[in-house]
Amino acid sequence: MPGNPNEIKLVNNAMSNATRRKIMNFLVDGDRSTEEVAEAAGKTMLDFHLKLLQQANLIELGDGTVRLSEYGRNFLKGKEEKDTQKNTDLSQAKPVEIAEIRQLLPCIADSSKFRVIANMTPPLGGTLKVLEPLFPRGRYSDKINALIMQKGEVLTTVYGTGKVTMTMIKNESEAREALESLRSIINEAIAKGVAPAPREKVRVEPMELYKYLPQTNCGKCGEQSCYTFAIKLMSGETSLDKCTSLKEPKYATNQEHLQVLSAYI
Ligand code: SF4
Repeated sequence: MPGNPNEIKLVNNAMSNATRRKIMNFLVDGDRSTEEVAEAAGKTMLDFHLKLLQQANLIELGDGTVRLSEYGRNFLKGKEEKDTQKNTDLSQAKPVEIAEIRQLLPCIADSSKFRVIANMTPPLGGTLKVLEPLFPRGRYSDKINALIMQKGEVLTTVYGTGKVTMTMIKNESEAREALESLRSIINEAIAKGVAPAPREKVRVEPMELYKYLPQTNCGKCGEQSCYTFAIKLMSGETSLDKCTSLKEPKYATNQEHLQVLSAYI
């Protein structure tokens, strides 16, 4: 049974991908043939996904069959209990009454676009964590108590303090629209009083990761090219911190995007 940090990392990596979570949930009702799994979860990279789940000791592969391991079954049961507990947490949340823009600054990554600083009142505090499933590309960070969301080129960060930042915004009217849409999605969930159910995250492809890498092929990460680095990020063979070029200020926004995306590999 996984227990040491490396084994836990394998499990976290295996379960961070929507296709692999789909496979796990599909196996809850019993053993399946590989063909049935392919039909339910898709054939693309199926061998790769099954291999990662097997390496994490979550499934067992037989002769053309796939089944949950005992650890995999217990893991899903524990997760379900945690999700049920989380679902009660929105009852005390207050809706966002005011969402207003404070500043429009040139974007670091592209000076023709804007970085927007805004504010939401009252601040959402710890409620943010519960709201994460509302956003297909959303990631809650305990470290900074913020919910970071990606939609196309726009990266939005909502902090527990009420501060909101948005990058790569075209103009003030787009900023207002994005802020108002955010406010109404959050308020709708709060009005229901129950946290949104976890939903399938949008799949990440290597080309999407590559798009946000510096694309200089400098080799500092030990890989021949940025695209190879993207492929190895997908397979869990490398980590984002190996690309030291991303630490340069001009890549700050790219790094934020990659951090959000890498949570869904
Ligand atoms: S260190 Fe970063 S920029 Fe350089 S090759 Fe690797 S991924 Fe590309």
